[in-house]
Amino acid sequence: MRENLNKLKIYAKNFDIDLNEEKLRKFELFEKFIREYNTHTNLVSTNDINLIYEKHFFDSLSFGKMLNPESKYKIIDIGSGGGFPVIPLAIILEKSIVTAVDSTKKKTDFIELAAKHINLENINVINARAEDLAQKENYREKFDIVTARALGNLAQISELCIPFLALGGKFIAYKATKIKQELEEANNAIKILGGKYTGIFEYNIAADENFARNLVSITKISTTPKDYPRNFSAIKKKHL
Ligand code: SAH
Repeated sequence: MRENLNKLKIYAKNFDIDLNEEKLRKFELFEKFIREYNTHTNLVSTNDINLIYEKHFFDSLSFGKMLNPESKYKIIDIGSGGGFPVIPLAIILEKSIVTAVDSTKKKTDFIELAAKHINLENINVINARAEDLAQKENYREKFDIVTARALGNLAQISELCIPFLALGGKFIAYKATKIKQELEEANNAIKILGGKYTGIFEYNIAADENFARNLVSITKISTTPKDYPRNFSAIKKKHL
């Protein structure tokens, strides 16, 4: 167990994140909690259950290089599922407030329990569909950072995520490889929604090319027109 924590500490350091004992302990508690919960509720695939550190913790932390741990960001994570990247972000960004959103109640119930279990006080959990929440006054264009990991293709998730950003805010999409074509296809959507593509950060979560990943960064440069996001069936049928 300590071996995993030591690796996590080194890995985080590569991304300019300093994990003290208290934070490492939170990651350890979270990992144990997922394993236990996963015995009755499917959150992490059985293939991945022994790779939580490599596949989920390391990956979630890759965003560290772009963040200042002392800043007070307002962050919203769309489609948080089993808590990635939202719980790792809440652990490392103690001064920020993070919001987890998922449309599946069993996922948001889990995140709430996990957050209590590891004593996180800077997290809100909302059971809602992103496309509905993004039309609400208190959520629309109110966040500095929106994250999404494994939520869908870039054009579709741009419509779900960019409306939450305040001007100047950043949408960070965690993506596996072969992102170039997806990015081209999302170009129009990003523009219509008021975003501008601002770069890709490529990294590996293990010394193995199967673990190559990308963070796509999109900055909000103009207000999102009121018509977006559309309802989910419209988004699925044809992306912008
Ligand atoms: N981010 C997590 C989970 C990815 S799975 C991870 O990286 O492991 C995608 C999650 O998004 C699922 O839990 C699903 O319930 C949720 N989801 C899908 N569409 C959504 C929508 N329109 N609004 C909110 N949540 C959504």
